[in-house]
Amino acid sequence: MDRIWFKNPLAVFTATGDDASGGVVVEGAQIVEIVAGGGTPVHGHDQVFEAGRHVVLPGLINTHHHFYQTLTRAWAPVVNTPLFPWLTNLYPVWARLTPRDLELATTVALAELLLSGCTTAADHHYLFPTGMESAIDVQVEVARWLGVRVLLTRGSMTLGERDGGLPPQSTVQDPDVILADSERLIRTYHERGPGAMVQIGLAPCSPFSVTREIMRDTAALAEQHDVRLHTHLAETIDEEDFCREMFGLRTVDYLDSVGWLSSRTWLGHGIHFDDEEIARLGAAGTGVAHCPSSNMRLASGIARTVELEAAGVPVGIGVDGSASNDASNMILEVRQALYLQRLRYGAEQVTPERALGWATAGSARVLGRDDVGTIAVGQQADLALFTLDDLRFSGSHDPLSALLLCGADRADRVMVAGQWRVVDGAVVGLDLPELITVHRAAAARLVGSTR
Ligand SMILES: [Zn+2]
Repeated sequence: MDRIWFKNPLAVFTATGDDASGGVVVEGAQIVEIVAGGGTPVHGHDQVFEAGRHVVLPGLINTHHHFYQTLTRAWAPVVNTPLFPWLTNLYPVWARLTPRDLELATTVALAELLLSGCTTAADHHYLFPTGMESAIDVQVEVARWLGVRVLLTRGSMTLGERDGGLPPQSTVQDPDVILADSERLIRTYHERGPGAMVQIGLAPCSPFSVTREIMRDTAALAEQHDVRLHTHLAETIDEEDFCREMFGLRTVDYLDSVGWLSSRTWLGHGIHFDDEEIARLGAAGTGVAHCPSSNMRLASGIARTVELEAAGVPVGIGVDGSASNDASNMILEVRQALYLQRLRYGAEQVTPERALGWATAGSARVLGRDDVGTIAVGQQADLALFTLDDLRFSGSHDPLSALLLCGADRADRVMVAGQWRVVDGAVVGLDLPELITVHRAAAARLVGSTR
């Protein structure tokens, strides 16, 4: 097996504080050595990759997404709505989703993520109308084909309009069907241990679309099979009001009451917490996926990331679904996090390194992984390499800051588990123009337009 030395990068961010300015040595799927400035690999190498034009990052890790939503980006009826009307307008459109639609949407989302330096992606898929029983199976196939590491969550909705929930009745499922399918997916696909490429998690959608019973039963099933739990929580004040009216509880009390306040759980958004709730989440080790673009787009609020972290909460970054971002671009999302969080905490506390730390080591913790998210010996060889050759970087000085401040939006090269998945800014083996043509047609059909 060849040992490749990524020699003397323009800059490198390890997410550990260690110096790797002399480069990184990769063998097979793993990082086997990091080289300090001015040094050479101690254990030898067979190949040299001259990295003098590249800023090297640990592959970025996306902690919250809904891949299927790439089919409903910038849809006029919901461009200017907050979360609840945004959802009630979109549910009937999403209810028409087919397996082929999801295959295309997943390919688009994962290709976009790869091109933006992402190597591990979580998805939250909760739509299983009749005919969509194979949704997660379809997603596994696409992820394996593209070679992206994924944590696919089997979502669910059980609380329809008839019972006081938000989603239409046609999109909710019977709890027994959900639990049986969850178990099937874990048994069929979930990989354990370092280097896992496909993992399964369980993810009832949100307090306003599931019953307490399915929350409790899902937590028990996750415990039994040792898989992760995910849901949306504390995204908007509307949601908080719903919880008070429906369950007589604030969101974190509700989470606790259904057995979810644990380190197995990570939450999408996590915005509206008070001080006591932040302390409880920290003590439990419950993670938060910060989704700045979506939170700004829907005017949901600003997550309290620095206080969450100080309390012990793992904090990661998520692009969120493409109907509320509407881009699946991880490096741009890190820029959004940097700027949004500066509005809350000031420029000194929220540095580019801190924002990049959320999207790498922080996101890895959120997803319960210790084999990715940093550049260190023994870690998976998941790397994102950016050049600063574009016009937008001309005249910039500090290379790492320039990535975020000048708005890098595309990686030059991306490696996952030692395999090149992006080369010269293109996804290896993917016909992008063809994908865009068929995906656009599927999107038009889904919203009922003939454009
Ligand atoms: Zn979401």
